[in-house]
Amino acid sequence: MALTPELFDGGIWRIPLPMPFGPPFINVYLLPCPGGWMLIDTGLDNRNSADALAEAMAGFGVEPSQLRHIVLTHLHADHCARASHLRDLSGATVWMHPADAAFLLQLKSTTAPYDALDEAMRTAGTPDDTRIQVRASYEKLIQLFPMLSPDALLEDGVILESWIGPLQVLWTPGHSPGHCCLYAPERKVLFAGDHVIDDITPHIGWLPGQDTLGQYLGTLDRLDQLDVELILSSHGQPFTGLREWTRRVRDHHAGRTAELLQHQQDGVIMADDLVRRLWPRELRPLDYQLALTEVLAHLEHARR
Ligand SMILES: [Zn+2]
Ligand SMILES: [Zn+2]
Repeated sequence: MALTPELFDGGIWRIPLPMPFGPPFINVYLLPCPGGWMLIDTGLDNRNSADALAEAMAGFGVEPSQLRHIVLTHLHADHCARASHLRDLSGATVWMHPADAAFLLQLKSTTAPYDALDEAMRTAGTPDDTRIQVRASYEKLIQLFPMLSPDALLEDGVILESWIGPLQVLWTPGHSPGHCCLYAPERKVLFAGDHVIDDITPHIGWLPGQDTLGQYLGTLDRLDQLDVELILSSHGQPFTGLREWTRRVRDHHAGRTAELLQHQQDGVIMADDLVRRLWPRELRPLDYQLALTEVLAHLEHARR
């Protein structure tokens, strides 16, 4: 598939960068800001992705040294892995929400997140061989994440000036603890990260003892209050119809919770069995992890 940059509103470049796994590409966005350019997310730290970004920027006549702000919607590797490198080239300010900065540090410097997942799998009744494979795949995935600390905190309510007017930072936890969207009220544009994606129900992250699904659903209520005409997501195509989308996703989660509770009433109690009911096929370790954490997030939400 040819990945071609696309211009919106006369000044926002959408640059799709290739991904070797998961969604076929990640969109990063480049737009003018006072004194230079702002980049929203960076792509993975590999040759193909780095070359595609460098080529696109050269095509628009933007030098890496002109980057002033690198805004990271969240800590996942496809969003932030090149941030340090680009900061070294430009001296740009790297922005990230404190909750994701803290979680990233924990992922890179302790075994606590892997131990928590391991413990959850034991409680869920995950067979030992699957559990060991899932933990190993999680540890391998996190190797793609950078050791990175932000220069500035992307907290809710912060305003970043840009060519399309002020960008309001909205803290939208759920997919990750510190996920943020950026809203440009003057142009009715929402940079939605992985929080809102056309034709996809974003994955809800799981953290022990936290109602991450409840947090996610709470942010949808907040998004419904905004006047949005264009949604620029990190994966897939730009689209419109935010309220229609939030309604669909709410319905999906309500249906999923009801389905899980029905299975439990039928006597399926262990989370591993619930995963196999909902996804009755062979799951690769990462898919199993995503499925189980989704089930755990739903059960925690239903429990409350
Ligand atoms: Zn993500
Ligand atoms: Zn992503």
